[in-house]
Amino acid sequence: MAGDRVGVGVVDLRPKALVRASTSEPVSDERDAAAGADHTPPERAQRGERGERDEDGRRIEIHPGCEAIVEFDPERTFDCVDSCTWCCHHGVMLYEPDFVELAEHADLSEATRSRRGRQFVPREGKNRTDHVAADGGACRFLGEDGLCGLHAEADWKPTRCSVFPLEVSVENEEIHVSIREDAETHCEGMDVSERRLIDHLDAFLPETLWELPDPETKVEL
Ligand code: SF4
Ligand code: SF4
Repeated sequence: MAGDRVGVGVVDLRPKALVRASTSEPVSDERDAAAGADHTPPERAQRGERGERDEDGRRIEIHPGCEAIVEFDPERTFDCVDSCTWCCHHGVMLYEPDFVELAEHADLSEATRSRRGRQFVPREGKNRTDHVAADGGACRFLGEDGLCGLHAEADWKPTRCSVFPLEVSVENEEIHVSIREDAETHCEGMDVSERRLIDHLDAFLPETLWELPDPETKVEL
């Protein structure tokens, strides 16, 4: 529908920041996961709004001036399953804005670890049997109730936690969005509801992504 189109000649289709395409092979040796217990969508997503789509249905405006190319079946649905918590059984990589924000909510010297120039919230051994991986570990912020302590206390969580189960890549300076391979295998929330991912992308893709020099979610560590 013409009325639904994003005006290609009018809207700057590039991310706001000059996004540098990653030259690294997408090796995910750290299951830094992405995570996000309590994937409560923001109000806008709950209203079911979605960005405009262009004529091939793949380019979507997620936030004003922030577009993404969607590379998954628009009929895919998602709803987080409370009892799952799989994506929080790992550590999570922090983008710089997350690191700055986390400083407002936690002692960075305790809550983060540096590895190869990147900052992480590490996983830790938990003294419990619920909401932990097979080895008893999980993200340090995953509480025994299966909820993210950060989200519960600060109504905030790291960008990569919001992005899961999606994956962000960059091609030709444009953000592309697909579904993570490990989410297909482990995420219990895939295709169990009527809630189409494509209708709620603003809940998964924070505007911050368009400001990052490299928003790719697969990284070489
Ligand atoms: S920070 Fe919160 S949402 Fe992210 S992995 Fe840890 S517990 Fe899960
Ligand atoms: S893996 Fe999927 S269903 Fe499980 S907690 Fe994470 S988002 Fe929810």
